Amino acid sequence: MFHYIESNGVDSNCYILESDLTALIDTGTHKNFRLYDYVDENDIQVDFIINTHCHYDHIGGNKFFEVPIYAHENDYLDIQNATEKTFYWGFAHNFNGYKNVNPLKEDEIIDLGEYILKVIHTPGHTSGSMCLLEESKKYLFSGDTVFKGSVGRYDLPSGKLDELKESLKKLCNIKAKEVFPGHGESFPGKDLLFNKYMVTLMEEDI
Ligand SMILES: [Zn+2]
Repeated sequence: MFHYIESNGVDSNCYILESDLTALIDTGTHKNFRLYDYVDENDIQVDFIINTHCHYDHIGGNKFFEVPIYAHENDYLDIQNATEKTFYWGFAHNFNGYKNVNPLKEDEIIDLGEYILKVIHTPGHTSGSMCLLEESKKYLFSGDTVFKGSVGRYDLPSGKLDELKESLKKLCNIKAKEVFPGHGESFPGKDLLFNKYMVTLMEEDI
């Protein structure tokens, strides 16, 4: 079963793919009680968390769950060690990182049963930003790399415009049916080709 817990204020969107194994993709901030309540009320047993990148508005709610955490190999140590890259001071006074944070690599497959996720490294917003492609339904979980009609910031620690451009090109070649971003509404995959920010950034290279 697929669950979509909509973004609330500064909290990221959260997605749950419930099957033989159940993965929670992003968790909002430590004040994202909506996620905690949703999981509790629906009696969902989360097996592990996957963070699309290290920013605190995507990882703060990890604290509600005592489960292993996964993130791209370029961001996982930031989540573990609460580095400046997580931008936690923008949201919380104290954050000491998490135990049991594990690295994921490009093309790594996470088999949940009904859902199979593939890791697509898309640096630019942070060096370890990644998207997850659900291979059977062609759902793309895009984190803060791309949103409906816009793209992620590239001015925060480890963000790089040239890397973001390459990542956006990479996403244009993925035939996603629906894109589920870290903030805001989902949108059809074909709309990636009409995202004016993406198109403008990439045209600068032509
Ligand atoms: Zn972010």
